[in-house]
Parts: sequence; structure tokens; C-alpha cells
Amino acid sequence: MGDKKKMPQDRRSVKKKSRKQRRQEEQILRLGAVLVSLLVVAAVVIIVAPKRSHTVIINHPSQTRDVEIAAPPLETEGPQEGVAFVRIDTTHATDGDPATEAPTEVPTMAPTEVPTEAPTEVPTATPVAALTAAEALGAVDTTAQEGGFEYLPVFSKADTFERKIAITIDDCFQVGNLQTIASSAYKNGGKLTIFPIGENLTKQGMEETLKTCAFELGFEIENHTMSHERVFKLSEYDMAKQIWDQRQAVNELLGVNYQQHFFRLMGGDGSSDQRTHNYLKQLGFYGIADWSISGSNAELQELKNFLQPGAIYLFHTTDRDTKILTQFIPYVASMGYEMVTMNELFGFEENQVTAYQPNQEMPIPQAYEDEYRTHKVGDYAYNILLMQDKLRELGLLVMDGESTGYYGKQTAEAISEFQSQKGLPATGVADSATQRLLLMGS
Ligand SMILES: [Zn+2]
Repeated sequence: MGDKKKMPQDRRSVKKKSRKQRRQEEQILRLGAVLVSLLVVAAVVIIVAPKRSHTVIINHPSQTRDVEIAAPPLETEGPQEGVAFVRIDTTHATDGDPATEAPTEVPTMAPTEVPTEAPTEVPTATPVAALTAAEALGAVDTTAQEGGFEYLPVFSKADTFERKIAITIDDCFQVGNLQTIASSAYKNGGKLTIFPIGENLTKQGMEETLKTCAFELGFEIENHTMSHERVFKLSEYDMAKQIWDQRQAVNELLGVNYQQHFFRLMGGDGSSDQRTHNYLKQLGFYGIADWSISGSNAELQELKNFLQPGAIYLFHTTDRDTKILTQFIPYVASMGYEMVTMNELFGFEENQVTAYQPNQEMPIPQAYEDEYRTHKVGDYAYNILLMQDKLRELGLLVMDGESTGYYGKQTAEAISEFQSQKGLPATGVADSATQRLLLMGS
């Protein structure tokens, strides 16, 4: 598929470089590879030596295990401890691409190589080329194209025949389990896309874990709100703050300015909310990360049966999911599948890393024209919440508690009633005309 071409050759940076720079970097890389090989040999010698030393050759996730978490050891780590970073050679049946796989065996020393050019305060450039790649892969949710406003793609699956899947890990309440999962992925030649809740970043051990994931293992760290809010229910400012704060927390933790590409909604709800698309675009996100199957709601056998090119698997770091993952990940590898990041699955460049800028002010959401996008049963959006408030005022809708922002049957019936009162076709679907009439009175 064409997406391979789009993968950056230099995994540490996506900035355009001169040939000379490139050659220098290649030399450094080659030197690094030699050094690492020497270290690996040294590690093997140390392990083979009768006095089994626990010298940490490279910072391995399982060796920074969070003592707070009373997770049972889910993998046998004994004999492999010292050589854990030497990837176990998984037999990629057919399409394992040695060219793209080889460099991952050498952990890059990214943190010291962060480009120092001053980045623009708020990345505003829309990733046009990248979106075209996604479009080419059929990843764009075409139902999102309506009117003049350009919605970001909602990614639930990549349209590919290559044996590639993305394993995504949400929330990250259990640091120890995250380490176990990351270690399993690494040992099986795989990568993860991690969607931590911002508030979980202060957990003990999280910093080392995510730094290792981002800079040594090539995993992605994406956005899942600051405090696990259902953002479609929040005011525009509060919604924006949930996204911005998590992103800043990730930057602070990693010590770099890390351009996130994917946003995952709490529960996946609200993917049609125009406000969220507007703000994500403003911050340079590529899209909303949905999923093909939730590993948190399926048994191991179902997950195995579901295995197919382009699938996005959703998991959490619970004990239950960790246990499933440490069985599922080796299975995926044994089936000749590659576990890639979301960027890789959709042919995007790596998350751009620039110099850290502390105390950045949150950009206020840019102006946009509300399209009063059509809403129907099953949707979640802020405009639905506003319509519910109005319908309740008009006595057309009776609800307990606050308006939910969820378009259920009751809301549809109330909209029908409103439409027939106003002489509109009583469809129960809140199209733009209905919404304007209800919310704006015209
Ligand atoms: Zn979540």
C-alpha cells in the first residue's frame, strides 16, 4: 500500500532536513547502532555469567514497576529480564517489512535530540497532505462531510489489506499494568498508541514509563481529556480546556512540545460535535480516534476471531485487560500481524517533537459558523443538550435531572411534536432548519 512511502525515514524527527544533516544523522545512527549492539553483547555476557546481575542496561518498563499497583506478575519475566529489549524474533509470515522494522531494534536517544528551533506558538497548519493519505485509505468518515465546515476524520478502521492493526490503550489508571502491556508489545515487535487521562499523568512511575514509550519504543501518546469528561456536555470553553490541559500535561511530563494527532472521546461519544472538531483542528489534531472493537468488552477468543487488517483495538490498563493483552499480543504476532501506531496505520508522519514551552496560554476556540448539523437518535452533541433545554422550557420534553445531550427516543418524539406545531415535516430528526427555529427562534 502507498502508506509505507509516507513513513518518515528518520524516526526521531519529521522536520525537513538538508542532505548533509541527514548524512550526519545517519552516521550518528549507525554509530548508535554499533554502540547498542555492543551493549547488547555486554548484556548477554552479564546474563550468561554465573553471577546473574540485574544491571539495567536500558531502562526497561518492567524494571520501573510501580510498587503501588498490586498487580500479579502477568508474564514470566525471570529468564528474560536482562535481555528484554532484544526483540523476540516473531515470525512475520508474509508482509513483515524488514526495512521498516530494523531501526526499531535500536532504541533511539530521542530526548537529547529534540530540535531546538522555536516552534510556532499554536500549530495552525492543517495537515492537508496527511488527510489526503487518510482519504486514500478510506479512513474518512464521509457522514461527517456536510455543509461548508470541514470536519476531521473519525478513524474507526483503516482500509488496508496489510496485516497491520493498532492496539490503543486508554485511561492508564494502573501504571504497573501499562508497563506490563508495553513490555509485551515491545517483546512481540509491536507498538501501542496510548491515550492517558491527563490527571493520571501524575501517578508514580508514569513519567519514566511514558518517556520510555514515546522516546525509546516509538509508541504514541495521544489525548483522552484531562479528567475523563464527556466533552459534548461541557461549555465550549470547558470542552477546549479538557483537551488543552491534557496536552499540556503530556508536554510537561515528556519535557517536549509533543504534537498530538488523535483525540479519543470518553466513551467515544460526541464525535459529531462541531465545536470539538473546530478546536481539535485549531490545535493541529488529525482526527478523532474511534475503534473497531473494544477489548474491554470482549473475550480473548472474540478478539482473536476479529483479527483483520486495519482494525483498531481498544483496551484499558485494568488487571483484566492486562491479562487478556499479554495473551492477545503474542497471538497477533504469531499470526503474522504487525502492531503499529495509529499514525503508522493511517500513513501519517510521527508526532512532531519540538522544544518544550512552559506556561503556554490556552488558545481560545477560534470562531466558526455553527451549522446546526443534523442530529438524530443515537447522537451526542452540545446542541442536543441545548435543544433539550428548550424543549423542556416549551413543555414538550419531560426529563429527570439535567439535559443529557444524548438524542434518545424521547428527544426524537419531542422534536416531532415541535416540528408539527411549527408546520414542519414531523420527522423526529433535528435538521438544520428545525434547530435554528428551536434554538434561534428563526
Ligand atoms: Zn476512557
